[in-house]
Amino acid sequence: MLQHDVELKKFDLHTNDVLKRDFYKNRIVESCPLCGSTCHIKYGFYNGIQRYKCKVCQKTFSRTTNSLWSYSKKNARTWLEFTELMTENKTLKFCAEKLNISIGTAFYWRHKILQALSTDSTPDSLSGVVHIGKVIIKESFKGCRDKEIIASATPRENIWIIGAKGEEDSMFIKPVFKYYWDKIAFNEKVYSKIEKKSYIAPCADRNINSVAIRHNKNKSIKVEAEYRIKYLWPNLKKWISIFHGVASKYLQRYLSFFIIMNLDKVMDYMDLIYDRLFEGNRFIRTEEIRIKSSLF
Ligand SMILES: [Zn+2]
Repeated sequence: MLQHDVELKKFDLHTNDVLKRDFYKNRIVESCPLCGSTCHIKYGFYNGIQRYKCKVCQKTFSRTTNSLWSYSKKNARTWLEFTELMTENKTLKFCAEKLNISIGTAFYWRHKILQALSTDSTPDSLSGVVHIGKVIIKESFKGCRDKEIIASATPRENIWIIGAKGEEDSMFIKPVFKYYWDKIAFNEKVYSKIEKKSYIAPCADRNINSVAIRHNKNKSIKVEAEYRIKYLWPNLKKWISIFHGVASKYLQRYLSFFIIMNLDKVMDYMDLIYDRLFEGNRFIRTEEIRIKSSLF
């Protein structure tokens, strides 16, 4: 029995090493994370992971430096399981108990993942038939302990989330402005991404409707409904309730995750890890994980 336990533990260590090597296999390090110089040489391996030495500042770094879990003492299997639980929309409490980590670590990991995902979830341009809709939600100060901020923000303001989907397999879902319809912000953040030749199919908003009439030059064609925009509100409401509400300052990050989980291409946790989190030259800036208050 004892021998069996030792072997299991050994197997666990091997799994951890194999996983780590595999995660970092395709990571590209183009420049020194300390000084930004692109002059570096290969400098051996550590636990099978390539190390480099910067020719300018002489510091060494590796494919793990500033990556998603670079300073984590937890093993790679825990990260993998955490990502899987995240795609299953499990609560922080559930993740913490299941993986034997603290709620603080779970919060931090979730936000690291959300931040890494939010860099590339929004399309640069929208083309074809572009469906546009909106959702208005109340500002949330969940988790905020600053009583002054909370008191000064009563009553809660309306936040306009605009959703847009063209023919590409990506979506635009972002908080765009507060209070009332803001044409300038809409033009700058949403309309500027819509290709001139596209056709706008508005969804349940008179302001978006008038943008569409102008853009479509009064032409009207029959298009199929895009359910992800048509039912954006009920879907989003259901999704936000899983997290027991989302603080407005983190809204954009959560929406990026929402987009990824609502693409045509079904993403599982393996796709998330290999295609998004460990892919290419992605660095995570630790100081950006907790944000004070920025919505847009
Ligand atoms: Zn350097």
